Formats: sequence, C-alpha cells, structure tokens
Amino acid sequence: MTRRTTTVAIVGAGPAGLVLAHVLHRAGIAVTVHERLSRAAVESAARAGVLEHRVVEYLRALGLADRLTAEGERHGRCEITCLGENVLVDYGALSGGVRHWVYPQQQLLRDLIAAYEQAGGSVAFDRPVRGVTADAAGRPVLDTADGPLHAEYAIGCDGAHGIVAAAFPDRAQGPGRRYPYDWLTVLARISRPVEQIRYAVHADGFAGMMPRTADVGRFYLEVPAGEEPAAWDEPRIRAELHRRLALGGDDPVLGELLETGMLRMRGRVAHRMRSGRLLLAGDAAHTVTPSGAKGLNSAVADAADLAGALLAELRDGDGDGDGGAPDGGDALDGYERRRLDAAWQTQEFSEQLLDLLHLPAGLAAEERGFALRLRLERIRRIAAAGPEGAAFALAYAGAGELPLPAMWPSAQGGAVATGTTGR
Ligand SMILES: Cc1cc2nc3c(=O)[nH]c(=O)nc-3n(C[C@H](O)[C@H](O)[C@H](O)COP(=O)(O)OP(=O)(O)OC[C@H]3O[C@@H](n4cnc5c(N)ncnc54)[C@H](O)[C@@H]3O)c2cc1C
Repeated sequence: MTRRTTTVAIVGAGPAGLVLAHVLHRAGIAVTVHERLSRAAVESAARAGVLEHRVVEYLRALGLADRLTAEGERHGRCEITCLGENVLVDYGALSGGVRHWVYPQQQLLRDLIAAYEQAGGSVAFDRPVRGVTADAAGRPVLDTADGPLHAEYAIGCDGAHGIVAAAFPDRAQGPGRRYPYDWLTVLARISRPVEQIRYAVHADGFAGMMPRTADVGRFYLEVPAGEEPAAWDEPRIRAELHRRLALGGDDPVLGELLETGMLRMRGRVAHRMRSGRLLLAGDAAHTVTPSGAKGLNSAVADAADLAGALLAELRDGDGDGDGGAPDGGDALDGYERRRLDAAWQTQEFSEQLLDLLHLPAGLAAEERGFALRLRLERIRRIAAAGPEGAAFALAYAGAGELPLPAMWPSAQGGAVATGTTGR
C-alpha cells in the first residue's frame, strides 16, 4: 500500500478549517481536509449569522465574500430592552462606521467549499479522523478510514470536542465556566426581517431576537441550567418570547418554529493551542457563548493568523518552528500567544455582556428590581457617545483587520503586510 502523505492535515471543515485550507492551498501548500459529516449536513446546519467587520473584509480580500456582500445585510444598530425602556445602541455610529454583516453560517460554508473546489482543493466528507499519533520523528499520523495519513502538521479545526486537542499530552483542556443558565434556541419563520438584534433584560430571564435571512430569525430564551427541552412546548416558547421581547407593533410576527434546541452555556479557553506539530484553531481551542456573536468570528481570526504563521514556517523549511527568525522568534508559538490573548479578550467581552443580560440567581423580587435598574444604567451608558459606548461598539462590531499572509495581493491589487490580530 502506498504511503499517504500531506504537508498540512486539517481536521474539520467548519469555518476555521475551510479558511485555513483555502489560504494554504492557494499558496501552493499540500493540504488535506477531513470532515466527519456529509457535505449536506455541513451545508445545512444553522448556527451563526452575525459576522464582524474585520472578518468580512478579510474574506473579501481573499475573494471569498462575493455572495456574502451581495446577499448579506449590514447591521449597525441593536436594541436592549429593560424595565419597559427600549434603548437603541447605534454601534455603527459610536464606532465611526464599523458594522456587522448578517449572513447565515451554512451559506458561508457552502461558499467556502465551492471556492475551495474551484481553486482545485477538495474536502473528504464522511471521513472522520479517529485519532492522531506521532511517527518516530515526531510527525503526526492521522488514523483515517483510508489508512494512516502522514503529515508535517496536523491542525485541529474540529470543534469543541476535537480529536486533535485530545492528542495533546495535557489534553489541552483549560479553565472553563459552566453558567448557571442555558439558552433555549429557536429558528423561526418570520413575517418580515429582523431589522436589528434585540436583547431583552427581563425579570423572568433574558430573551434575544437575531437577524438571519429575510424570512427566518434566530431567537433565544434563558432557562435554568440543565433544563430538559421537553419542558418547553411550542405554546410556552411562543408565549415567553412574546412576553420577554415585548413583541408587537412593527415587530416581525412569529411563524412556524423551524428548529428548537438547548444550548448548554459554557466558556472555555485551552491552556495550549500548540503542541509541537499539532495546532488548534477555532472552537477546538476556545468555546464562547453566543452572547456577543464571537464564535465563528474568532474561528476565522485564528485561521487567518495560523495561515500566516504556517506559511512563514513552511517557507523557512527547517521545521524548527521559528519561521526563519534568526533567534528567539517562533512563528507558530507567536500564533499561540496572540490567539490565546485574543481568546481571553473575547471571553471577557462575552462575559460582560452575559452579566448585563442575566440577573444573578436567587434574588428576591425587590432585589430583582434593583438589579434591573442598575442594568438599565449600564445600557444607557453603552448607548451614549463617550469612551464606554465607543469601546463597546468597536469590540462588538469587530473593528480592525485580520492579517493577510505577507505579500498576499489585496483586493485593491496591492500587498498587505502581516499584522497582529485583536479579539
Ligand atoms: C445556536 C448558535 C448560534 C451561534 N451564533 C453565532 C454568531 O452569531 N456569531 C458567531 O461568531 N458565532 C456563533 N456561534 C458559534 C459558531 O457557530 C462556532 O463558534 C463556529 O462554528 C466555530 O467554527 P469552527 O470551525 O471552530 O468549528 P465548527 O464549526 O464546530 O467545525 C468543526 C468541524 O469539525 C468536524 N469534526 C469534528 N470532529 C471531527 C473528526 N474527528 N474528524 C473529522 N471532522 C471532525 C465537525 O463535524 C465540524 O464540521 C453560534 C453557535 C450556535 C450553536
């Protein structure tokens, strides 16, 4: 049997894996992508939909955002309701023009797969990687249904319970938090598009309404941690969404509930994103609650940084991980350092938002009124012009830029130097 080899073996065809594969492949690196699910499953799972400014600009520079920018919607305002007051946060204005794009994750994945194939790449769907070991020289060997695959580097873009992280000597587990509540998730047909994200801070629990497409919206309801989905039948879900979100007037009318689920609310950041020739990106290294819509965005930001670091390392060619730096520099360790810092910044932003949106457990009625009124103060401060409003707006909409590989031709035909990423 012939020995199967590749330079970079990517496990997982989510946003992180596909973006990384695309950049490496177009730079002439031999890449394999293994995905355990079928193509249809990957291209139909509805998850994220709110994309940061810098993520879309990065995809645009790679030529991967044509459909996104043609069909997606720009959003620069959200509203936060509390104690009957509806506070408009015009974060597009507060940030000086930085806004989100709204485009469903499954459509983005469809576009990324198509573009990768058009560039000559291919994804091995229905091909789970069952384990990762090392050969005598310390190079990764992936256990696949088609036999062992020998690689220079193995990249875990395989989500929160990934197999590559499990192959780290310390299993890469890091500190995490299980929140004292969960979010019931609903995808529903709606009569008109959701014009802006609505967060409802309510004595009976948080509720959220997010845009997705012209006739589909994403809704969230806070429920006690560990709640069984069976406790929430359709009439109860509808009634709670209406009450907490104060739906009415010009708001979209809820149609068919297309999908309901239970999101166990957790945050976690791995101790390590690199162990020798094994690297992690996206949810495989850090999971964040959807409060700030940062999961997909962080996954793409990791992939952007890792692509540059791997290219620097592979062009250096000696495999010592220093990206050609004379002394002390290390392209892959630099990736880990920058992206762990960014993961903690993201985690902190999302935690602040969670604190704002949820009341502490066990409060008496009078204390709940007190906690709600304090939150209203904070909401008004975020919505007002000034340093707090600007800081929230910039972090929320994802200001700044992601690094294109050195000398990658930009959308304008120039060259964009490698930089550092923020959150
Ligand atoms: C309801 C919901 C709403 C969300 N909303 C937002 C939002 O608005 N904005 C935002 O930024 N984020 C949001 N997120 C989070 C976002 O969806 C994830 O953070 C994002 O998908 C992470 O991308 P990834 O590439 O790291 O991992 P994933 O998308 O999880 O992809 C990992 C892939 O690896 C594959 N895989 C796993 N194990 C193996 C194996 N052994 N072999 C081969 N393949 C394997 C999986 O099948 C999967 O396709 C939301 C998530 C949910 C659940």
